Amino acid sequence: MKIHEYQAKELLKDYGIPIQDGVTIDDVAQAEEAIEQVHRAHDTEQYVIKAQIHAGGRGKGGGVKFCPDRAAALENIQNILGMTLVTHQTGPEGRLVKKVMVGPAIDIKQEFYAAITLDRTKGMDTFMVSSEGGVEIEEVARTAPEKIVKEAIVPGFGLRSFQARNLALALGLEGAAAKQAVGMFQKLYQLYRELDCSIVEINPLIVTGAGDLMALDAKINFDDNALYLHKDIAAMRDLDEEDPAEVEAGKSNLNYIKLDGEIGCMVNGAGLAMSTMDIIKQVGGSPANFLDVGGGANVETVKNGFRIILSDPNVKAVLINIFGGIVRCDRIANGIIEAVKVLDLNVPVVVRLAGTNADVAKELLANSDVEIISADSFEDAANKVVQAAKE
Ligand code: GDP
Ligand code: MN
Repeated sequence: MKIHEYQAKELLKDYGIPIQDGVTIDDVAQAEEAIEQVHRAHDTEQYVIKAQIHAGGRGKGGGVKFCPDRAAALENIQNILGMTLVTHQTGPEGRLVKKVMVGPAIDIKQEFYAAITLDRTKGMDTFMVSSEGGVEIEEVARTAPEKIVKEAIVPGFGLRSFQARNLALALGLEGAAAKQAVGMFQKLYQLYRELDCSIVEINPLIVTGAGDLMALDAKINFDDNALYLHKDIAAMRDLDEEDPAEVEAGKSNLNYIKLDGEIGCMVNGAGLAMSTMDIIKQVGGSPANFLDVGGGANVETVKNGFRIILSDPNVKAVLINIFGGIVRCDRIANGIIEAVKVLDLNVPVVVRLAGTNADVAKELLANSDVEIISADSFEDAANKVVQAAKE
């Protein structure tokens, strides 16, 4: 799960990490009050207005604006609230900005990058920093990988002081700023562990004009499987920022991820779903989604799955690929028959059922009056669905 910058900053604050604080609003009517509040809290007349969306690169896209006075702040709030912000992470369709943060403009002396995530090849969390902050880290990784310095964290030990000092040193920090960095890095890792994050990223981490360290931006993602342990964090979820079909799928306990191809897939089991996507590609098609209906698929799940797949206008054909292990194929067949009856199906459906009661299932489908294309093998199914999508 992702959260907004202003929410991530609240968590950093809870852990005693200095942040660029602000007031977040969702209505232009609150603008003057917010500006006044920031003015009073920070004794400043210069502001920064920041679009709150679940995507980075807002600065380049025009979603972060420096404002030399109140009038400019007001104008930028009016412009940014309600705009469709396009960044390299939103895709060309962009994202509607529903919230903005009003912050005090900060005098920046240096910009760094700091992040923690799991390094899957090492099986350890990795703390990384770079002196090249404020820019896209992907670009740094590509052109100057030596400028990203990493410390692998041994499970159980946490980020050790010598590692935190190495990281501070890598940023060229000395004296009081280095001390601040060491403390900040250790708190960041504590937050990452305690809140079951999958990524914590501060870009930029800055040295202010006064020489202090501060998180100017913050991005935190969480491990969904641990959210039940953190009710307060789960409550920060913003459904406006998520794909509506994925939200709908979640409600029906379906694992659905939208992709940009034309073949809708309904599969049970993540492994089979992955290989279904592979084989579709192999025979020249492109999957419209990943959908795992799970081990206990029944009539309801199949119906919901269909509804979600068909809500995608790109879908030209549907492939149902079910292996009956725990789930019985005849149940799936009944689900398909019912779903096709109630839903207004306007695309061809290819069905491949194998395993428990597959014979009964085939009979059911053959004797029903629903129009489906039956397939015998995995490959046969892939060929037929790609063909059907073309026609
Ligand atoms: P992102 O583009 O979505 O990553 O948004 P950021 O919050 O990182 O802001 C982008 C850039 O705007 C930063 O790297 C800074 O260079 C600049 N910026 C943001 N806030 C301030 C501020 O208060 N003062 C100054 N001088 N620059 C800022
Ligand atoms: Mn940033």
